[in-house]
Amino acid sequence: MSRSKSRSNEGKCFLVGAGPGDLGLVTLRAKELLERADVIVYDALANPEMLGWVRVDAEIIFAGKRAGEQTLSQDEINALLIEKSRIGKNVVRLKGGDPFVFGRGGEEAEALAAAGIDFEIVPGITSAIAVPAYAGIPVTHRDQNSHVTFFTGHEDPAKSESAIDFDALAKLGGTQVMLMGVDRLAAITREMLVHGSRKNLPVALVRLGTQGHQKTIVGTLENITERASAAGFEAPAVAIFGDVVSLRKDLNWFEKRPLFGKRIVVTRTRKQASGLSSQLRALGADVIQLPTIRIEPPSDLREFAELVQDAHSYDWIVFTSPNGVDAFFEIFFKLYDDAREIGAAKIAAIGPATAQQVKDFRLHVDLQPEEFVAEAVVKEFEKTGGVENLRILIARAEKARDLLPKRLSGMGAIVDEAFAYQTVPETRDVTGAHRRFSTEGADLITFTSSSTVENFLDLKLPWPAGMKVASIGPITSATLRERGLSVDVEAKRHDVVGLIEAIRKFYGA
Ligand code: SAH
Repeated sequence: MSRSKSRSNEGKCFLVGAGPGDLGLVTLRAKELLERADVIVYDALANPEMLGWVRVDAEIIFAGKRAGEQTLSQDEINALLIEKSRIGKNVVRLKGGDPFVFGRGGEEAEALAAAGIDFEIVPGITSAIAVPAYAGIPVTHRDQNSHVTFFTGHEDPAKSESAIDFDALAKLGGTQVMLMGVDRLAAITREMLVHGSRKNLPVALVRLGTQGHQKTIVGTLENITERASAAGFEAPAVAIFGDVVSLRKDLNWFEKRPLFGKRIVVTRTRKQASGLSSQLRALGADVIQLPTIRIEPPSDLREFAELVQDAHSYDWIVFTSPNGVDAFFEIFFKLYDDAREIGAAKIAAIGPATAQQVKDFRLHVDLQPEEFVAEAVVKEFEKTGGVENLRILIARAEKARDLLPKRLSGMGAIVDEAFAYQTVPETRDVTGAHRRFSTEGADLITFTSSSTVENFLDLKLPWPAGMKVASIGPITSATLRERGLSVDVEAKRHDVVGLIEAIRKFYGA
């Protein structure tokens, strides 16, 4: 059989750059490939939050080094990529930074080529330029240098003598960025000095760059080793040698953001978490997404669909959450191809996010209580002159508090409840968030509903020392207190905006 023929049912292997750590520094191509991959083989340097983008049925294989865990050898990794591609899988080999910059991506590509496997390279933002940038150090500057050198401080142990030409580095000057080798800093700086690099050459070391726990220390070629050991500085880090390091004193932007260095846990569903997480990240927080719940269709989807079908026969439709709006219109537009089928029904929405979700469907919100709790809806209806004999459909979660329907019926309305979705415990942990939370701890945990509280506690993860609690509002806070927890931060406005405001205030930011 010719090779091209046998290839037709083979898969493909993508060597994909995962960027330096910040979830925003990933290419669109990388995200797209992750979303459709059958198999993902990832390294320790790739931000595991990205695994939240993969299909639920994708196979996820960790190939990196992590304390106390077995690692795959390079040969084993190559063999794995070939084997999975050969049986027809779309394989994403996710590598930190750029796959072809000091990451052995070249070797993996060679192995794939030799095995006749179809492959593609997706470059990534390398830590060699992104990490200095996040430390406020431009690798080039018109006034300082006209060339940059990348070198590795960690060489193939099999090599008999150093491949780093310290003489050349000293003569070359410019900016020199070293990857790996922070553990060999003493030997490297010594060699640089011996070969004529100047003693007062500015040096910066940046650990876990572009991430919430980025740490930078600055010194000179002469004293950086001492400073690093005094600070207990560890890998993974990038070292920058050159006069551009001095620009950091004015350009250090990332480490000055208001929530920098705070690790904050987000417990809401993965789908809903993105807004809260990205806003916290934009303020500099190190966010762990640890979803405790997920949204599933209601147990009686048929009954829900029948109520949606009859929606036009109601005077009011009340939405209590964005999820309810989504679930409702998903069915509605399966049944009807015209928004006017909603008829003369008026729409009430609790909370601005719920209202916005309705507006996104190009429908007007007729009633939107100022306060984001069910009690306030009742008050608003009272203001409109009551609901006596009006037919009201409430689209909401299964097993939600039943105060609203009771009160509206009490006021004389004819109320039907449409169970639009159910909230179920999220016990899967594709991104390894449970492990990170348990080993690295957190400064603050956010709860956006009672069910996030209940389900978080049911996971029985150890409570990190000193971790504070932020709640979206009084109902969630009550659940927290019932479960024996104290509430350190409570949002005044009971939505994501309010929660973020309260967290900023709490940290004096
Ligand atoms: N292909 C990667 C580099 C792999 S070598 C890239 O392009 O970035 C691994 C080394 O990269 C680490 O030892 C460290 O020196 C550096 N590195 C990668 N990510 C880093 C980060 N977020 N912060 C600091 N150094 C990082």
